[in-house]
Amino acid sequence: MRITPLEGWGAEKIQHPKLTRAALEKYQLTKLQAVIQFARTKSPFYRHLLADIPNLSQLSDLAQWPFTTAEDIRQQPLQLLCVSQDEIHRVVTLDSSGTTGQPKRLYFTPDDQQLTIDFFRVGMSTFTNPDDRVLILLPGESAGSVGDLLATALQQLGAVPIKHGPVRDPLATLNIIWEEKITGMVGVPTHVLALARQPNTPMPSLKSVLLTTDHVPNTIKYAVEEAFDCTVYNHYGMTEMGLGGGVECEARLGYHLREADLYVEVIDPMTGRVLPDGEYGEVVFTTLTRRGMPLIRYRTGDVSRFMPDVCPCGTCLKTLEKITHRLSGQVKIGDKIITMADLDEILFSFEDVLDFRVIVRRENGDDMLQLEVKMRNGSKLERVNEFKVALLPLTQHIAIQIVPTLPTSMAKRAIVDTRGHA
Ligand SMILES: [Zn+2]
Repeated sequence: MRITPLEGWGAEKIQHPKLTRAALEKYQLTKLQAVIQFARTKSPFYRHLLADIPNLSQLSDLAQWPFTTAEDIRQQPLQLLCVSQDEIHRVVTLDSSGTTGQPKRLYFTPDDQQLTIDFFRVGMSTFTNPDDRVLILLPGESAGSVGDLLATALQQLGAVPIKHGPVRDPLATLNIIWEEKITGMVGVPTHVLALARQPNTPMPSLKSVLLTTDHVPNTIKYAVEEAFDCTVYNHYGMTEMGLGGGVECEARLGYHLREADLYVEVIDPMTGRVLPDGEYGEVVFTTLTRRGMPLIRYRTGDVSRFMPDVCPCGTCLKTLEKITHRLSGQVKIGDKIITMADLDEILFSFEDVLDFRVIVRRENGDDMLQLEVKMRNGSKLERVNEFKVALLPLTQHIAIQIVPTLPTSMAKRAIVDTRGHA
C-alpha cells in the first residue's frame, strides 16, 4: 500500500527532511502563535475576541481559547478580514440558513487560493496519474470556483481536467464520459449515483471516483464502485476550510488532513472540552496559513473522531473518521434520534432510488417523517411498501411520496425539521 502523498508534501511544507509527529506539532505551534498574533493585529473581530487571552506556549493551551462560529462570519464578515479588500481575489457567498438570515461570506487572497490548488494537486495524486482524464462534476465556470481550482491542480499534475459542472442530464454526461475517454471523476455522491443507476445503458469502466461536498453513504459508494468497476475515495472539505480539508489514502479508512495548513481538534459540543483521539465530537479547525480571513477554532458542526490507530498506509498524519452527520442534522422522532446517514444507508440500498428529500412535521399530535423519493424510470410503485418495512427500525410514522424529479443541488442534503415553526 502506498503511503498518502500528503506525508511527503507535509515534510516539504514544514521544511523538515522527514515528517514526524513531533516536527509537525512544533511547526503547528509556531504557526498558531503567528496566526493569532496576525489576527489580533489586523482584524477588529479577533482583537476583541482574543483580547485577554495569554499567549500560547504549547498546543494544549489552545483549549483555553474561544471558538469562532458560522454566526460570527454571518454577522460581521468584514471584521474578520486581515488584509485590505484590494487583496481579496475571491469572495464565496454561502446559504442563508443561519438564525440571522444573513448569508456567510468567505474571503480569499490569491495566495490563499494557491494553498487550495496545492492541496488538490497532492490529494488527487493519491489516485490520479499524469495520463488520466478527469471529469469534474462540480461548478467550475467562474475563476476561483472549486471546479476551476481543481482543474488547475490536475493540469499541474499533468492530467487532463474536463470541466462539466453538476449532473443535470445523466445520459448526456455518460455520453461525455465515453467520448472524452474519461478515466476518473470528481462529484457529489447523489449526482454520481444518478449516473451509476441509469437503466439500460452500457457503463464505462473508470479507475477512480472522488466523492465530495457531502457525506458518502456506503450504499452509494458500493453502487458507484460496481457500476464503473472503480475505486471510490472520499474528500472532506468546506468553503471555510479553503474548500479542501482532507482526503482518503489507499487504505480508505478516513481522511488524512492537510495538517500543515489546518490545526484540527475534536471537541465536546456541550462543554467545549477537547476530546482525546477515539471519542466522537464536533470537528473544530484553525487555519495556519491563510491570510485573507483566518479562522481560529472554527466550529464546523460536523461530527467525527480521530481514529485511535495508526493508518495502515504508515503515515504519521492523523486519520479523521468519515463524517456521517452534522450536529444540526439529527432529529428526534419519538425516542429515536435519526440522521440523514441512517436514512441514506437504508434507502440507497434499493437500487432504483436516485435521491430523496426528508421533512419532519407534526401531524395530529404525532411526529411524521415525510419522504419525497426520486426513482429511476420504470421503477415499480409497490416499492413504497418495501421502503416502509425497511425504515421500520427507525420509525413507523412515515409518509412516502414518489416524485418525478428533485432539484439538482450542490448543497449538503439534510433533514428539514418544521416542527419548531408549527
Ligand atoms: Zn493512510
